[in-house]
Amino acid sequence: MRRLDQLLANLGYCSRREARDWIKKNAVTVKGKAVRDPSDKAHAADVLINGEPLDHPEGILLVLNKPLGLVCSHDEREGPRVYDLLPERWRARNPQVTSIGRLDKDTSGLILLTDQTELVHKYTSPKHKVPKLYRATTDRDLTSDLIPLFAAGTLVLEGEDDPCAPAELRLFPDAPRTADLILTEGKYHQVRRMFAATGATVLTLHRVQFGNLTLGDLAPGEFRSVTVDEI
Ligand code: URA
Repeated sequence: MRRLDQLLANLGYCSRREARDWIKKNAVTVKGKAVRDPSDKAHAADVLINGEPLDHPEGILLVLNKPLGLVCSHDEREGPRVYDLLPERWRARNPQVTSIGRLDKDTSGLILLTDQTELVHKYTSPKHKVPKLYRATTDRDLTSDLIPLFAAGTLVLEGEDDPCAPAELRLFPDAPRTADLILTEGKYHQVRRMFAATGATVLTLHRVQFGNLTLGDLAPGEFRSVTVDEI
């Protein structure tokens, strides 16, 4: 049970002060009865606003096809943000909607967004080992000796002490400068730095899959709600 004014404010509907006005104007019902006291507590599922159920009252979990040029940071000074693609009300939520891990500004593809802090911790924790599949193109032909090198779990990135966890590299005989790389961890700029350690520069990078989730037919900038079970 949550206080009604707090519930509406946290779900991004309005400020707590405005919530009090809405409640006084009978716009809010709990189990079909108008409530008058903003401090009344209710289960989110029992609340209607102007006859409509609350929007994702138990939290948001989205898969977004991140376009190039957007950042996963909340800091506007770093450039246009993935959060700017979301409806205003979702952007006003508290806790705020944030990305589960990050993709670089010049990486496109699958990113998860949520306002459920525990999911951010769960899926960014190295313990969880969720496989993430990236498709990279590089400035030179990739050779099959990279497959055991990445799989060995011994590759140490510049500036790091610990080696990368074993990673699966898949090459394409018809496209020698394209590869898929599956990682179970998320070091800073990891894909670009792993290829850099072999002398190759990544020219384009796109995340194709996160756990079992794929983008399906989402165009760049589009998103859809998913459940934890789908991951
Ligand atoms: N590795 C990178 O180098 N960049 C990303 O955005 C994700 C993984």
